[in-house]
Amino acid sequence: MADCIFCKIANKELPSTVVYENERIMVFRDIHPAAPTHLLIIPKRHIPTLSHCTGGDASLLGEMMALIPELAKQEGIQVEGLESSAAKGGFRVVVNAGPDGHQDVYHLHIHLMGGPRPWKGAN
Ligand code: AMP
Repeated sequence: MADCIFCKIANKELPSTVVYENERIMVFRDIHPAAPTHLLIIPKRHIPTLSHCTGGDASLLGEMMALIPELAKQEGIQVEGLESSAAKGGFRVVVNAGPDGHQDVYHLHIHLMGGPRPWKGAN
């Protein structure tokens, strides 16, 4: 999509801080972080919203979700210590869809937010 900012980021026409990339997916830092760690996980292919996904997108969506534990480890926000009942770490995973979902950028993305509380206010 010619005027989509996340397509431009995926095509390296706009700068971003990339933390992971493969042929199908890119992960970069949110420009206005709502938490100490705030990553955006996007498909390189333009999909406007989660509402536009079908069963044919299941493996792509699964791949995006399955990246999260590894990204959380890289960022030091993984959940630890459940066994000792002194759990720490953790994160939120958010997908906004459409106007009522407060989606601002119409290219599918998963927000991965985590780090020590308090946060500035996650959407
Ligand atoms: P949403 O409201 O779910 O559509 O979230 C869009 C997110 O994209 C917001 O958290 C913005 O801060 C973020 N964002 C917008 N432009 C950029 C950009 N050029 N680079 C990184 N993040 C961006």
